[in-house]
Amino acid sequence: MSDIADRAGWRIEKDVQNARAHVSKQALLESDGRCHFCDELIAHALLFCNVDCRNDYDKEQAALRRAGY
Ligand SMILES: [Zn+2]
Repeated sequence: MSDIADRAGWRIEKDVQNARAHVSKQALLESDGRCHFCDELIAHALLFCNVDCRNDYDKEQAALRRAGY
């Protein structure tokens, strides 16, 4: 059994998961003029007021997914 092949397989699987998560997230989130994380009023085309909120939202969603939600 090869460690390197195992790790490469793991990476590819991670990339696919990330891509799927990205696509489904884009499909689920709709811009409603408020930051999806802190609810601050923002320009209508945006989903988050800043990159910190986007990152925190991503982390929260990842934690929820890990918890089985
Ligand atoms: Zn925000």
